[in-house]
Amino acid sequence: MSAKKIALVTGANKGVGLATARQLAERGLTVLLGSRDTERGAAAAKELADTGLTVRPVQIDVTDDASVARAAELIDREYGHLDALVNNAGMLIRKPAVEVTAEDLRPEFETNVLGTVRVIHAMLPLLRRSPSARIVNLSSDSAIFAKATEKGSMFARSHESFAYSATKTAVNMLTVKYANAFLDDPELAHVKINAVTPGYVATDLNNFKGVKSTDEGARASVYWATVDDDGETGGFFDDNGPVPW
Ligand code: NAP
Repeated sequence: MSAKKIALVTGANKGVGLATARQLAERGLTVLLGSRDTERGAAAAKELADTGLTVRPVQIDVTDDASVARAAELIDREYGHLDALVNNAGMLIRKPAVEVTAEDLRPEFETNVLGTVRVIHAMLPLLRRSPSARIVNLSSDSAIFAKATEKGSMFARSHESFAYSATKTAVNMLTVKYANAFLDDPELAHVKINAVTPGYVATDLNNFKGVKSTDEGARASVYWATVDDDGETGGFFDDNGPVPW
């Protein structure tokens, strides 16, 4: 077993994931920089490794069972365990709510929801072997019912994120269900799992309209990926603390 803590960040070749990978590596973790595209992952990992950080690329497409299984096998072979998993990979397709068909929901649910479960399921045996395993699931302010139901708010008016918001609300519920299940299992009780929202961050996801930097957006992920043993589990947080569901 490697003495250094090992973290896997999915969708880390750019945006919030790339900043999360860098900040975790700056804290001394060995970071496996997940990317579905091998070349984009290698370039991003090199950019961080060239500054002296311990970062290596890992090909992982969260919609592909074989790709996720290969990533888990590599981590098992090379490190024997995983200390932190950040389920950061995500996608957003804008389409007016009234035009969305059932079929239109598939890509975002496949990536944001099924992808998160696929990766957690594959990595659980490795997380089980860490003395202080952490899972962070990327959610969103747009998943918050209190915001979506606040008349006139930006979130109440953003009908075009119909599928996306629903996927992130699903991620929140899965987070709570996993947390409760881990607490009930003596072999997994040490695994903390939390949902975070990075806030409105300028990335490709929103055509760089966000107001926060990726470094700011990564803060909550990094905090909960490295939280102490007395930290919470089953919660929903931004970089200021708990947020409503
Ligand atoms: P981004 O810059 O578009 O990055 C998304 C990342 O996810 C990219 O690396 C992308 O890879 C990857 N990805 C997409 N589909 C994938 C798949 N099937 N398998 C593996 N990786 C995949 O967006 P971001 O803003 O940094 O988003 C990061 C996370 O934060 C997402 O979960 C997003 O929902 C969440 N979030 C963002 C904001 C915001 O304001 N930006 C707000 C709330 C929540 P490619 O480069 O190959 O496409």
